[in-house]
Amino acid sequence: MTVQQFMDMVIRKNPNEPEFIQAVQEVVESLDAFIDDNPKYVGVLERMVEPERTIIFRVPWINDKGEFCINRGYRIEMNSAIGPYKGGLRFHPSVNLSILKFLAFEQVLKNSLTTLPMGGAKGGSDFDPKGKSDLEIMKFCQSFMNELQRHIGASTDVPAGDIGVGGREIGFLFGQYKRIRNEFTGVLTGKSLEWGGSLIRPEATGYGCTYFAQEMLTTRHSDLKGKTVVISGSGNVAQYACEKVTQLGGKVVTLSDSNGYVYDKDGIDSEKLAFVLKLKNETRGRIKEYAVKYNCEYVEDKTPWHVKCDIAMPCATQNELNRDDAMALVANGCFCVSEGANMPSTPGAVEYFLERKILYAPGKASNAGGVATSGLEMTQNSIRLHWTREEVDTELKKIMKSIHENCVKHGTKEDGYVDYVLGANIGGFVKVAEAMLAQGLV
Ligand code: NDP
Repeated sequence: MTVQQFMDMVIRKNPNEPEFIQAVQEVVESLDAFIDDNPKYVGVLERMVEPERTIIFRVPWINDKGEFCINRGYRIEMNSAIGPYKGGLRFHPSVNLSILKFLAFEQVLKNSLTTLPMGGAKGGSDFDPKGKSDLEIMKFCQSFMNELQRHIGASTDVPAGDIGVGGREIGFLFGQYKRIRNEFTGVLTGKSLEWGGSLIRPEATGYGCTYFAQEMLTTRHSDLKGKTVVISGSGNVAQYACEKVTQLGGKVVTLSDSNGYVYDKDGIDSEKLAFVLKLKNETRGRIKEYAVKYNCEYVEDKTPWHVKCDIAMPCATQNELNRDDAMALVANGCFCVSEGANMPSTPGAVEYFLERKILYAPGKASNAGGVATSGLEMTQNSIRLHWTREEVDTELKKIMKSIHENCVKHGTKEDGYVDYVLGANIGGFVKVAEAMLAQGLV
């Protein structure tokens, strides 16, 4: 089957799912020559693009005004060839089947790259946590878990957080699971330290993405010291990417949210970042308030990609960086892009980065530190022990290094350029494909 025939089949079977089709297209294109050279894998990809199970359910809850509300809940159990399903939950009004299927598909390859035994899944709801009271969030989470609990379990499917699902939501979800099932197990990751969480899990995605950037820079005999870094988003991933970049000697000059970005040419140091953490995780305000407090520039309704920098780290959401943005970044001297978000660069942007041969890491490689540390949390839960901060961080660094090596192994072109997209797709695919072949027609 040619790439075109394959994609025609995917489009026919998954109408109105543009994000899912975009994610599949990228993988199919990069695996085409590899599968031609390794015919035993023919047919495996057809199976991989079909979720093992798709669960869609009603989530009824009552708001603070006493009104009856209905949201839609999802869990896409994409692939369990190499371990229990694993992947985050997203609560955002944009959530639909297409977005969750793209995320679940990417998650399968990402989890394989981590070297840990985890299958791939994703879930969530079109519920919007913005502006909701803690009580409303709790009622929603409890109702969501009333249904989800039937489908998950510590050895079956282990959800975590994603956009709109942080420590507060994981707490409410875990509490309800425990209440219904009468068991205290590692059924969710991203838990608080007091009840089974892992040190470094909140930091892991942002830290890991920075470690990956560092690995890429090393291939060009460079590092983060003195580099200007542009970051989008101001949520979990952006916050800890900012922290680690600063610790490693870089200067972060932007953060954003869905309303706009702040440009602080003096750099967002640890004291300013502490303000951002309080603003976003406690008072739940807008990034604009940072500009007021620190008297810097705020640009409404724009993304930060036209700001001059050496390194860019998109850490907000899918398709937030298009070809024009990519051109502006490169024209301004940016030579390294490490994605914290999932699929933040459009296909046109990715194509441009590769054409210009800059260091470009797709999210499935560079943001895998989050799920890897979730895997470490599962291990700690299983053995009922806690590892120290240093132990988890050392393991995280080791995993990011090994993902980088895997990408270099499979993605190095004849001229020496490392195509990390190719490397991540082949590296992630092989392990899952081998497991699927060994397990028969599953
Ligand atoms: P958070 O909810 O903590 O933060 C998300 C941030 O992105 C917020 O600043 C938010 O702004 C912004 N954002 C969300 N949607 C949009 C949008 N449509 N347009 C512009 N800005 C937007 O989520 P995370 O930090 O956890 O996740 C960020 C990205 O990282 C996602 O792509 C996620 O899939 C990916 N990821 C997360 C992992 C994790 O461990 N948390 C692991 C691997 C990947 P606002 O508040 O205005 O909505």
